[in-house]
Amino acid sequence: MSLTMKIFIGMIAGVVVGVIFNMLDIAFVNETIVAGFFGMIGTMFVNALKMLVVPLVIFSLLCGVMGIGDIRVLGRVGGKSFALYMMTTAIAIGVAITIALFVGPGQGFTMEGVDASGIEAKEAPTVWQVFANIVPSNPIAAFTNGEMLQIIFYVIIVGIAALMLGDRSKPFAEACEYMNELMMKIVGIVMAFAPYGVFALIAKTFTEQGIELFIPVIAYVATLTSALFLHLFVTLMLILKLFSGLNPFTFMKKIRSAQLFAFSTASSNATIPVTLRAVTERMGANNSVASFTVPFGATINMDGTAIMQGVATVFLANVYGIELGLAGYLTVIAMAVLASIGTAGVPGVGLVMLTMVLTQVGLPIEGIALILGVDRLMDMIRTAVNITGDAVVSMVVAKTEGQFSQAVYDDPNAGLADD
Ligand code: ASP
Repeated sequence: MSLTMKIFIGMIAGVVVGVIFNMLDIAFVNETIVAGFFGMIGTMFVNALKMLVVPLVIFSLLCGVMGIGDIRVLGRVGGKSFALYMMTTAIAIGVAITIALFVGPGQGFTMEGVDASGIEAKEAPTVWQVFANIVPSNPIAAFTNGEMLQIIFYVIIVGIAALMLGDRSKPFAEACEYMNELMMKIVGIVMAFAPYGVFALIAKTFTEQGIELFIPVIAYVATLTSALFLHLFVTLMLILKLFSGLNPFTFMKKIRSAQLFAFSTASSNATIPVTLRAVTERMGANNSVASFTVPFGATINMDGTAIMQGVATVFLANVYGIELGLAGYLTVIAMAVLASIGTAGVPGVGLVMLTMVLTQVGLPIEGIALILGVDRLMDMIRTAVNITGDAVVSMVVAKTEGQFSQAVYDDPNAGLADD
């Protein structure tokens, strides 16, 4: 049985066990087994993934920069991926708002009995702040805090300097190659434990969440989920086909394990090692491109999150009976795209970004209380969409830059040994 299959089974078992535990609602089970034991396994698993992110990004990106070997090509890869990431996010939220306006979730809903205490608006950073923050004043602090944009910036500079030193950098390049391979091996080891980690995470979420939370906001959940699936299966696949000519069915098959990781962890950042592995070893993108585009995308590209913000804005505008108008919705699009650049892919960050968007267009942020209960599950789905967007853009850039192996892409067994 393939590992993806095992992870999938772990996930389904987690849902079943979680729903049953939620219905039984036995204190001992909830506290000791679910919060205690499942919580421990789940945290261990997510921590193990996170422990890989920074070292893996450092070494694979160093290999990538030195592998490309040309600063102009580096600039082109950077520019192309940035443009594509912004474009996919803008399309995502544009389509989401259109669908939500059409469906009209939240009409006739009243805010009574919803506890809105403890929700605070976050100030949106200015574009200038976002860009200024890319340069780390202390790279070690950037590494410890997992500041992905700062890490990417610093590592690229180191790689460029190493290139400039020419032959003198050979031992360094070899050491990086070795470290990269070593880190990828550890990814394989961690992935072997994934079915259990995924089971624990999902069982815990479903025990704690329960189904009844969804009933009052079912229209929101249904609209959001449809918009997410539409982006995943139609928009992104069209972009993949149009820009790279690659077969979307093959792509979908090979990205599945990364999607399952993203779904279970609700963190694009924690999923970086798995996404990177899927696009390089399973789909044949060269590490020189993917080592940059994948962590870059996990930080700046959040299609699923943008879709949530679009649908949530329309939903709350309906709930409060506020007409936003075209200008309002265009502001929402611009804000969501901008906000996604500076915020890292970790669980729940979408909701924080939503407070910025709502404040900008003058909607009461207390409205978030309405969707808070269902946000964890929505977060899981949108994170899977987020990393799929990262992978699509990575493949488009790799293919158009000629940093790609069609033979690996077409081989159903490529990279399967440890997948
Ligand atoms: N959890 C998402 C991610 O990591 C971000 C969000 O909260 O929407 O990509």
